[in-house]
Order: sequence, then structure tokens, then C-alpha cells
Amino acid sequence: SQALLEVNNLVKHFTTGTQTVKAVDGISLSINQSETLGLVGESGCGKSTTGRLTLRLIESTSGEINFEGQNINDFNKRNMKKMRKEMQMIFQDPYASLDPRQTIGETIMRPLMVHQIGKKKDRYNQVLELMEKVGLDPRWVNRFPHELDGGRRQRVGIARALAVNPKYIVCDEPVSALDVSIQAQVLNLMQDIQEEFNLTYLFISHDLSVVKHVSDRIAVMYLGKIVELAEAEELFHNTQHPYTKALLSAVPVPTLEEKPHKIVLEGDVPSPKNPPSGCRFHTRCPFAEARCKVEEPELREVGSEHFVACHLV
Ligand code: SF4
Ligand code: MG
Repeated sequence: SQALLEVNNLVKHFTTGTQTVKAVDGISLSINQSETLGLVGESGCGKSTTGRLTLRLIESTSGEINFEGQNINDFNKRNMKKMRKEMQMIFQDPYASLDPRQTIGETIMRPLMVHQIGKKKDRYNQVLELMEKVGLDPRWVNRFPHELDGGRRQRVGIARALAVNPKYIVCDEPVSALDVSIQAQVLNLMQDIQEEFNLTYLFISHDLSVVKHVSDRIAVMYLGKIVELAEAEELFHNTQHPYTKALLSAVPVPTLEEKPHKIVLEGDVPSPKNPPSGCRFHTRCPFAEARCKVEEPELREVGSEHFVACHLV
């Protein structure tokens, strides 16, 4: 299948005072049409920044963002506004991402107005249809966000993203703020609308069990870099990078079988202000050798569509 989005050597460095934070430090990846690419890593590894960069919600320091073959990093404001219809975002916190003074109807109507989608007189019905699509009772059109629980608020967020009929949606921890009991319902909804509207997802989460459930391929990030990238099955059953192995060891599995190579991560993620030399994971890697401290491993293809950045693989 064909790449809808392709990112080449994407970099985002923030400067704070005299220090440079290397939030995203040279990422390349592609997402195929109708695919879900999972992006995982601990908090602070740069995954949310990567998602926002692909939408140009924040500007990159350098790199290419090709959407349907066009480098949108070169687009001016006007062309970018048109592009916004194709690319949307679902946010982590359905409590913070909805304006408390706007009704559900107004919230979902807004993108239709901003992008002048449909005729004015039809928009109200479009809103009701969107509400039905995401499993919200259309009779709640005049309710306010505070009257809804977290799951329903996130459905509003999904309807708002869907309103402009996008092709690509960045889903940034879309169920992390929800009760476990409603996470599955929202994930199922996202998969249903993906199929119905032929959507392409970048699905960001710190939770590997969620990502495993929804992704076709998975990219693992550590301190601004991708360290492993493979098809979901392959990543889980033929894990290569020590960091991915450590993340997997932390996932509770509902069996009595002891996991073979349990790696426990020690210490916190180092600051991206001053990332470790060589392999950025060397300060926490149980297999680190002398060269790991000085030589940065490249992301190399080690199997069919399986990429790993580690000297030992
Ligand atoms: Fe560990 Fe070295 Fe591989 Fe980095 S390159 S993950 S430090 S073994
Ligand atoms: Mg985040």
C-alpha cells in the first residue's frame, strides 16, 4: 500500500535560556493509507511532539513532512489551512480539550464553519448525524461538556475531528484519561470510524497493551529517536531492542507463564536537554558495552520491514 504521510529526518529542538532541548532528533517514518501506526515510549520521549509536528501544530526545526507526496513543511498559511481539513487531532484529555462554555452542538459545528463545509442550513443536521456516528444521543446537542462523562466527552472530540472529513488523524493518548471500563468502547468506536471513513491514524500511547490492540505497525521512541519499528505482531514476538524488551516486561500478561527475559528499567528517562552520548539508552541498558557510550547506533533494517537501532542486533 501507499504512504499517505512520510516524514524525513524530522527535528525539533527547543531553546530554553542557554540550553537546547532535543525533543525530536531526526525521525523518519511513513504511514500507509488506512493504516494505524502506533507510537510508544515513556512520557517525555517526544511522541506527542512528533504527532503535533506532522500536523504542523508546532513548527519543526528541520525535516520534511510529505503528505500525499507534497512537502507541507513548505506550505504557506493559506495552503496549510486547506490542508487542515485533511489532518486532524484527537486529544488526550477530553476534559481540557473542550471549551466548557460551548455546547456539544457548537463544538462539533465549529470546524464546519471554520472550513465552510456544507451549506449553512444543512450544518445543524450534519452535527446531529456526526453525533449519531460517534454514539452520542442527538438530543444532547444543547448540553455542555460538564454534563457528560469522560467517554462521551471523548466522543465529542472524535466527532469534532471527523466533522471536516479528514484522511489522517493524530490520536494522542485518546483513552489514557478514561476509566478502563470505557477505554475499549472508545477504541472500538475509533476502529469502526477508521474503517467507515478510510482513516489513517498515528496512535500515540505510553501503554503498549493499548497500542498492540489497535496498531498495524508500531514505532518505539526513546529520547527523541525511534529505536525500533516493525509490524505489531513482529514487534511483540520478535522483539529486538533492549528498550522495547524492557517496555514489554512491564506489560502485565494474563498468564501464569513467567516471561523469559524480564528486563527491569532502572532510573528515570534522562533529560532531553542533555541526552547521553552514543546510544541514548546506554545509561539504562543492561547490555551496554564501551562502544555504546560513544557510537550512536543507526536505525537499520534487520528483518523484513523490521528496523532496530542497537549495536548488538
Ligand atoms: Fe543497549 Fe548498546 Fe544496544 Fe544501546 S546500542 S540498546 S546501549 S546494547
Ligand atoms: Mg504526551
